[in-house]
Amino acid sequence: MIVMKFGGSSLANGERIRHVAELVKPELPRKPVLVVSAMGDTTDHLLEAATMALETGTVSIERIAELHKNTIRELAIDIPKIMSLLAELQVLLVGISLIKELTGKTKDYLVSFGERLAARIVAAYCQSTGIKAQALDAWEGGFISDSHFTAAELVPETWDSIPDKLKPLIDAGIVPVLTGFIAKDQKGAITTLGRGGSDLSATMIAAACKAEEVQIWKDVDGILTADPRIVPDAQPVEAVTYEEAAELAYFGAQVLHPRAMLPCMKTKTPVWVKNSYNPTAPGTRIVAALEKNRPILGITSRNQVTLVDIVSTRMLGQPGFLAELFSAFAKYGISVDMVATSEVSVSVTMDAVYDLEPLKKEVSRIADVEIKTGKAIVTIIGDVDRSSEILHQAFGVCAGLGIPVQMVSHGASKVNMSFIVNDAQSVEVVKGLHKHFLGTQVPHVSHFSKGSTPCI
Ligand code: ASP
Ligand code: MG
Repeated sequence: MIVMKFGGSSLANGERIRHVAELVKPELPRKPVLVVSAMGDTTDHLLEAATMALETGTVSIERIAELHKNTIRELAIDIPKIMSLLAELQVLLVGISLIKELTGKTKDYLVSFGERLAARIVAAYCQSTGIKAQALDAWEGGFISDSHFTAAELVPETWDSIPDKLKPLIDAGIVPVLTGFIAKDQKGAITTLGRGGSDLSATMIAAACKAEEVQIWKDVDGILTADPRIVPDAQPVEAVTYEEAAELAYFGAQVLHPRAMLPCMKTKTPVWVKNSYNPTAPGTRIVAALEKNRPILGITSRNQVTLVDIVSTRMLGQPGFLAELFSAFAKYGISVDMVATSEVSVSVTMDAVYDLEPLKKEVSRIADVEIKTGKAIVTIIGDVDRSSEILHQAFGVCAGLGIPVQMVSHGASKVNMSFIVNDAQSVEVVKGLHKHFLGTQVPHVSHFSKGSTPCI
């Protein structure tokens, strides 16, 4: 069997859903399982509706109701369940407006409507074209998670519960259409796997059911060498490893959910990232290993990062200093990204989402602490074995732009070299590096796959 996942933009309206059915048809002999996101920007619209109910007491599901009702009309299908889901959503928003409270648990219940509406519409349309499709909510397909609302983790039992639920349907010739992104915890509350989580739903099904491959259908031609909003001539890459894909996802490229590669890494299930708007484009293949490492795969950046510099002479020859320091980060629930140390100092970065004052107060007892906000992590994904050469050139590019580099980390990962610049300069740096390493003079991806070494 195979898994085909369709993201929000691939399901933006009735016309896009027709395309989806067209993409599924030729794959029917391979026994596809479909995984769907919410239609278009429905997840954002649901969250906006909740904020409005919470802050102004106004309950409005108009935009969401209209999109789904119009789509049903356009596709000439009839699904009574859609009306009851919309009614339930309305009641929930009224609840939020009355209680004036929006917990993670309520948020997850709320956004789940996006995927639940989409799965029903896709399944009903597929049926109307003769495909034996059946809509399933994630929990009906064996998705059980912990209770970490808004960022839940699937529990280990899902490796068995997913195939237990799906195999009988697949064997009966049915095409299951599952809601991505959502699950239920052991107490039966709806959870979500974090934004973009339907990628993870798809790879988890594929890994647990030992699928031949996963196809992740998006609105770009695959994984690109940079964020096309920053670098308009970013090019799709032909193939990447799971590790490279995970780094690209985590550090800004946002093509895939950061944890999406984990299940397929375990089972070595190949993943394809394809463009539903341009299905004949080859897309990007994600696999365990590639024959030849290319020096540079892509350039990404992660903005709104805070840098914390910790300086203490107590570090000198003092066992346990770093343990003490990092236990303070753990105590305040601060997740650290990059770390660099010298004999007397440690610099760490984190997303600018934490209140760092309590940490500063605590750590100031053992060291001088300086918090620097407004930073960005620029990451070069490439062959770390060649990092001296690559970083030498990268710093040359930064120097040429007159942009100081503030902290460097490389070698900890096999594929990632990162450094810090000021947030306001990150776009210029990414553009400059992309031009230098992957610029238009480099003839496109097929060139890469031959293992050639552009610019270096
Ligand atoms: N609909 C959810 C989101 O927008 C999940 C997904 O698209 O994967 O984050
Ligand atoms: Mg989405």
